[in-house]
Amino acid sequence: MLFKEFKIERILQGRLPKGSDILEGIGSFLKDKSIQKGMLSGIGAVSKARIGYYDQKDRVYKTMVFDEPMEILSLKGNISIKDSEPFVHIHGVFSKKDCSCVGGHIFEGTEVFAFEFEIAEFSGHVFKRAYDEETGLYLWAI
Ligand code: ZN
Repeated sequence: MLFKEFKIERILQGRLPKGSDILEGIGSFLKDKSIQKGMLSGIGAVSKARIGYYDQKDRVYKTMVFDEPMEILSLKGNISIKDSEPFVHIHGVFSKKDCSCVGGHIFEGTEVFAFEFEIAEFSGHVFKRAYDEETGLYLWAI
């Protein structure tokens, strides 16, 4: 098992503007605030979502676009370092007009209608991602 112990350095709470891309918006906020490690959560609504799942056999992400207004029931992510840059990994559960849900790994192309988030920045030694032969994913290594 691989793990590290952190303390919470600070918690930031905010809102992304309507029309922004969740991944890009959070990514640039992390750079602005020099946040390299932590966790993210949020709720709100999107005008469209691009989400997917990792095909474990083919070792590729299969993405789907839901071009419709949906609630963000739960959005959760972690922040670490990949290729020397802060990297945010986000999953989300969205509900449609009939309250049925879709969810998955969030990709660029997920557009904010309203998004309220909290980021807990950790203090301690940051996790760095490296290619993992067993899964084909970039996982926490050191
Ligand atoms: Zn993922």
